[in-house]
Amino acid sequence: MSHGAHDGRVEVISGVMFSGKSEELLRRVRRATIARKRVQVFKSHLDRRFGPPTRLVSHDGGEIDAVPIRAGREIRHLVNPETDVVGIDEVQFLDDGVVDACQWLANRRVRVIVAGTDMDFRGDPFGPVGELMAIAEVVDKLQAICVQCGGPATRNQRLIDGEPAPPEAPLIHVGGAETYEARCRRCHEVPRPGRHQTELDIAGAVEAWATRSRFW
Ligand SMILES: [Zn+2]
Repeated sequence: MSHGAHDGRVEVISGVMFSGKSEELLRRVRRATIARKRVQVFKSHLDRRFGPPTRLVSHDGGEIDAVPIRAGREIRHLVNPETDVVGIDEVQFLDDGVVDACQWLANRRVRVIVAGTDMDFRGDPFGPVGELMAIAEVVDKLQAICVQCGGPATRNQRLIDGEPAPPEAPLIHVGGAETYEARCRRCHEVPRPGRHQTELDIAGAVEAWATRSRFW
């Protein structure tokens, strides 16, 4: 694909966790640097997976300076007028303001490359990523390998204490034994809404019955 030197556009690198989105973002940013483009990278302040929030670090150990932001609108104030390429990682954690920021940059002939997981653990669109995919010129959906069956993985399996997380669990979990796996559509498990509650209700009823029966 050939792009003119002044083409403003939005590129989305999306897909499941562990599919190499940050590596692909880093690869594109490095190539832009080799082409002597002026590059700035931002990322959500929530991403502290591999290091301090001022670095963008990928699974393969690559890294580059990144500016942590809390909201999409901050980009307009932080971007330098001479910047040619803007990269944004973990974009799913940002608000809808990031869509406006990407449009604003692309309309000013900036090449915008955003990376983020497109679905949350329930399999629903995650934050602004769906809208970004709609307005983008180029979209790449990367796949990982399903840990259950070895097929192409497209879903994020969330586990809390080793069990599939119920749909009512908060989207962004703080603390606790939470893990994620890449899985395919068939192996992806989200307990039906209410099932968890029903199980708790039954457990509660049994306990109440057992307590009462002691006094009989
Ligand atoms: Zn599978």
